[in-house]
Amino acid sequence: MEAPIYLDHHATTPLDPRVLEGMLPYLREHFGNTASRNHVFGRTAAAAVEEARERVARAIGARPADIVFTAGATEANALALRGLAGGEAPHLVTTAIEHRSVLDNARRLEREGWALTVLPVDGHGCVDPERLQAALRPQTRLVSVMAANNEIGTLQPLAALGAIVRGSQALFHVDATQALGRVPLDVEVAGIDLLSLSAHKAYGPKGVGALYRRRRPRRVALTPLYEGGGQEDGLRPGTLNVAGIVGMGQACELAVHEMASEAPRLRALRQRLLARLEAALDGLRVNGHPEQRLAGSLHLSVDGIDADALLRGLDEVALSAGAACSSGLVKPSHVLQAIGATGTAPAATLRLCVGRFNTEAEIDRAAARIVQRVQDLRAHARSDRGG
Ligand code: PMP
Repeated sequence: MEAPIYLDHHATTPLDPRVLEGMLPYLREHFGNTASRNHVFGRTAAAAVEEARERVARAIGARPADIVFTAGATEANALALRGLAGGEAPHLVTTAIEHRSVLDNARRLEREGWALTVLPVDGHGCVDPERLQAALRPQTRLVSVMAANNEIGTLQPLAALGAIVRGSQALFHVDATQALGRVPLDVEVAGIDLLSLSAHKAYGPKGVGALYRRRRPRRVALTPLYEGGGQEDGLRPGTLNVAGIVGMGQACELAVHEMASEAPRLRALRQRLLARLEAALDGLRVNGHPEQRLAGSLHLSVDGIDADALLRGLDEVALSAGAACSSGLVKPSHVLQAIGATGTAPAATLRLCVGRFNTEAEIDRAAARIVQRVQDLRAHARSDRGG
């Protein structure tokens, strides 16, 4: 059997071999604790972490001192939302299509006394800046909007949203997990105060991420999620994951250099996949925004079939039915509900995302397998109805 084809880059990405090479010395000989400043092992580790901090900062137009390393974007989102000191009857605005690591923390803040507004999105998954403007109140403390959606790939108009937030008292948090390395990010251009990142969505290792926290001109005051050794400016205590952080820095460096050439290549592969599926199958609907989207991302509703049945027979192609976190549940995801793509007729939703190491040959083979599987299932359904 040929090797399976990985088309699930929204769930995670493979580690780039160049990133692994950069990490290995920090798992082998340079194993020091960054807090051990009195010997060379500690100082070597600390220097590597500071270089990684510069690289991560460069990828988002920030200063190195504004970067706090975390265990991933889930933790960065939690720190951004729950780390904000309350104030008088604070108000939080977020959107209906955020990742659960934002939505669940927003609900928790609501239980703790915050007022919460969840903005709807249009049929493409976009937030309307006018709706954001109308939702703001004098007590609005935070607006949290994702840069790119992890199911349908829609990009939000961050600069327009940021300009609105900047005109208020509120802070602007952006979950940029799916955008890192895929679209340009600049915290100054979009007026962002807090921004969450994860290494493993950008060909870096799992279990490491970062929170950008603005210090200038206005310092965003945060309290840590738990107490400990005071690392990361007291915001993220605990011994640093040096190899992981080095890998994240390396992944950011590669992303910055390769994004401009990579995005058109991914767009072409995605179009090729869609064209092959559309040529052979009817009853396909593409979800998400036609242009304001991640280049490699393709989200489809396939009429008349069951997603679980489709995936069961598709071992050679790694893709996901809706969001990875909620696949296996029969209920349509909160994102599909928010864009009104749930329908009443049975339809399988497929989330595909092409990535750095996919080739044209793989795309052709994957398309052929998906087409064959959908045709088989539809033929079965017809014969069941007939007989
Ligand atoms: N936000 C978004 C938009 C995501 O796609 C993910 C990962 N599925 C996360 C946050 C959580 O990231 P991590 O896996 O680093 O905790």
